[in-house]
Amino acid sequence: MTKKTIKAQADGRNGEIDFDINVDDNQIKDITVTKSSETPAIFNQAFGKLKNNIIENQSFDVDAISGASLMTQAMLDSGKKALEEENIKPEAKKENTEYEKKELDVDVAVIGSGMAGLMAASRALSMGKRVVVLEKNGYLGGATILNGSNVVGTGSKVSAKLFGDEAKKDSPKRLVNDITRESRGTNYPMLSNLLANNIGKAVDFITSFADLTYQKAETQTIEHSVDRQIEMPSESSYELITKVAKAFEEKGGQILLDARVEKLNKDQNGKLVSLVANGKHQEVTVTFKSLVLAAGGWGARDYKAHKTDIPYYGPMTSTGDYFNFAKDMNLVTRNLDWYKVYPHGLEVEPGIAKLTTYSTKEVTDMGAIFVNHAGKRIVNESAPYTHFRDAIAAQKDKVAYIIMDQKMWDRFYELMLKYGFNKDEVQGFFDLDGKKSPVLVKGDLQTVADKAGIDYKTLQETLDNYQADVKAKYDPEFGRDAKFLHPYEGDTYYVIEQKLRFCTTLGGYEINAQMQLLDTEMQPVPNFYAAGEIVGGANGHDSMPSMMNSWSYASGFVAGTVAADNSNYNFDESSKAEDSDAVSGASEA
Ligand SMILES: Cc1cc2nc3c(=O)[nH]c(=O)nc-3n(C[C@H](O)[C@H](O)[C@H](O)COP(=O)(O)OP(=O)(O)OC[C@H]3O[C@@H](n4cnc5c(N)ncnc54)[C@H](O)[C@@H]3O)c2cc1C
Repeated sequence: MTKKTIKAQADGRNGEIDFDINVDDNQIKDITVTKSSETPAIFNQAFGKLKNNIIENQSFDVDAISGASLMTQAMLDSGKKALEEENIKPEAKKENTEYEKKELDVDVAVIGSGMAGLMAASRALSMGKRVVVLEKNGYLGGATILNGSNVVGTGSKVSAKLFGDEAKKDSPKRLVNDITRESRGTNYPMLSNLLANNIGKAVDFITSFADLTYQKAETQTIEHSVDRQIEMPSESSYELITKVAKAFEEKGGQILLDARVEKLNKDQNGKLVSLVANGKHQEVTVTFKSLVLAAGGWGARDYKAHKTDIPYYGPMTSTGDYFNFAKDMNLVTRNLDWYKVYPHGLEVEPGIAKLTTYSTKEVTDMGAIFVNHAGKRIVNESAPYTHFRDAIAAQKDKVAYIIMDQKMWDRFYELMLKYGFNKDEVQGFFDLDGKKSPVLVKGDLQTVADKAGIDYKTLQETLDNYQADVKAKYDPEFGRDAKFLHPYEGDTYYVIEQKLRFCTTLGGYEINAQMQLLDTEMQPVPNFYAAGEIVGGANGHDSMPSMMNSWSYASGFVAGTVAADNSNYNFDESSKAEDSDAVSGASEA
């Protein structure tokens, strides 16, 4: 038989995945994806692993990738069917599916491979410790991998170089002031200070550890009183996470994927000494001197439990497993109902949102206005996000609409395609014709108003008034800065809905200044540290843009330092795994 390309098609999480299977003489040689709408940062990692397994085993009867099982299983099923239909029968090896029990002994164990976990692990490794990272998914990066990598560089050499004199205007004190103002004083000062005083060190440390390059962030948001936001050149944390993980492993750190921590063990003295993690084919018992919990937020858990009616847009793997596996440790929590709520959401399926932040920001800079069902403007469209959020939340139906002309829509659409949407998907929204969410309609003003259910007469008045304000370079109603007052052109309009959305949880466990987790008597649990989204309060009830990443960096850096230091001193012979007393049960699937 000669070379052949077999076409296959699978239903992914976000739509169709088309792929080619290249075979030669009944052997699977290569698999290439020709179309996919899956989140690239996750898809690239999961598909890479899947492809290697398929080629190595010459079979589509291999395991799906944990945390991405829906799309990878769909690819396996359709690939298998496509080969059968073509009567291709590769000589399949049997995938090694033996259940292995492993034991590891380290100085520092870290739960979670998001930025907080990788930062803590890298820092502890750099201090000469034996470090392992346990990650329940079959790929790296948790929620971190989905974001644009923007972080603040306050106090870092990196920022001094990038911002020059502007960097001199910034300081930890100024950053804390901004956090306090924007969170309306709901932040916990000890944590905000910890963040502000360590973010510069963390940025410089990881830059040199993983040989990173930062650039000034393309968007410097107005919540920050000075330009201080930096990002990866690719504007993606995929680059950050993969580079840091690579450096960590090259320098001797271990990362175990598909290793879900399900149990913690204490010794007779009440010290935490080991954990048990499970995967499809492995059970790993890790004995450690220090443990860093960096297992991220729990937004998906609250979404599934209908704890809020705000659409969710985070990873489905943010399930808060620790509420189960650490429950017997009586850890004290705060503000578990605090979510980071953003205004720029499209409800793409019931309860699930996708963000349009970049598109929305750009077209509001171009002069677009936000109206409600009554056709009235509801906010200064160029104000900080929190103003939009509060304005949308104040509407009875909790929805607002952006009104765009052709030029604005062209830019909006371009950025939608750049940031997470595809052409078919957007066409699908148009096809709904405004009858259900997400509302996206095109036409003359009367048509778009009718289709979107907006009062046409008032909308026409609103637009006429706005055009007059633009001419006068003065917005008497909301005081929008004149530089954002631009006229609407032409007779074609586009209207798109804007709903609230959330993914990040802002409350969490309480820690002391040494990053130690506290029990309900406010006593630190020996050997137990935390970092990242799981720790609540540094940014208060509302985090400024870039500040959750900044918290992951800074808290991971400090947690890695103290966990490494603890491993020098806080260990005695009685703290052995075999003496352990299991304290916690299994977590949810
Ligand atoms: C789409 C999106 C956009 C965002 N945009 C921004 C932004 O622009 N700026 C900003 O500052 N912040 C942003 N955020 C928030 C920010 O990404 C997170 O707050 C931050 O990345 C959290 O980092 P983390 O390391 O604490 O958690 P994560 O990155 O979520 O990592 C936690 C890891 O722990 C793993 N884990 C959980 N339980 C277990 C277990 N039992 N065993 C083993 N492993 C486990 C998870 O699988 C995960 O990989 C965004 C978030 C999302 C989802």
